[in-house]
Order: sequence, then C-alpha cells, then structure tokens
Amino acid sequence: MASIFTRIINGEIPCNKIAETNNCFAFLDINPLATGHVLVIPKREVDYIFDLADSELAELMAFAKKIAAAMRTTVPCKRIGMTVIGLEVPHAHIHLIPINNVDDMNFGKPKLRFTGEELELIAIKIRSAIK
Ligand code: AMP
Repeated sequence: MASIFTRIINGEIPCNKIAETNNCFAFLDINPLATGHVLVIPKREVDYIFDLADSELAELMAFAKKIAAAMRTTVPCKRIGMTVIGLEVPHAHIHLIPINNVDDMNFGKPKLRFTGEELELIAIKIRSAIK
C-alpha cells in the first residue's frame, strides 16, 4: 500500500504544499514543532533515508537547502534546524524546523496547533520566498 506521503504527492490527501521538483516534494508538517515546520521528501517511496542512492540523497539535500533559505527569510528564527527521525511514517523525510535554541528540536515537546487556514498562510509566505 502507498505511504501516506505518496498519497500526498499524488494529491489523494491534502497538504500545505511548499514546492516540488521532478524527484522531491516539500509540505508543512501537520503537527508542527514550530511555525513553518516543513517536511522534505523524495517522491520515490523509500522508507529509510540512507537507502536512497547517493544522487537521490544529494538532490534531496539541495532541494532542502532551497526550502530552508526561503523559510529563514519568512519565519523569525536564528536558523533552520534539520533532522531525520522516520519512526512514524515509512517514507523518508527530512524535518526542517525554524529554531532559536536546542530545545526547539525536541520532538518530545507538545506540538503546536494551527487551523488549516493558518497553516496555508504560513505555506504561502514560504512559497513566495523560494528563489
Ligand atoms: P517521523 O516519521 O517520526 O519523522 O514523523 C512523521 C512526521 O510526519 C510527524 O512530524 C507528523 O506530524 C508528520 N505527518 C504525518 N502525517 C502527516 C500529514 N498527513 N501531513 C503532514 N505531516 C504529517
């Protein structure tokens, strides 16, 4: 069965899309740790990120870099933190999180709650800052 992220890529499940290329896709995390928490994924459904080919991983990282640059100009923060966990959804993904201190990357913290409209407003801002 297709992963929930493949279904998002295919438009079967809605998301707050940030950007896509031939091989990569970015959208807002639905349960964000911070305002503007983005997930960056390869379109090819691979569970473990280090099972991607070197070229796929390099392309994903370059794509994440572009998205992070847009996030940094949009969301007030010191920098964009990056982490990979992957224990919940078996489709490789990079978390990009605006951070001001190390605790902002703590996945044990309660998640933020936004309405669909609030999430879409954040997505619009990040999208419009992509160069
Ligand atoms: P993990 O696999 O532990 O890295 O966590 C998966 C992440 O995917 C979590 O931060 C979830 O909030 C996020 N997530 C799960 N389903 C969706 C969805 N439908 N749209 C956006 N983010 C999602």
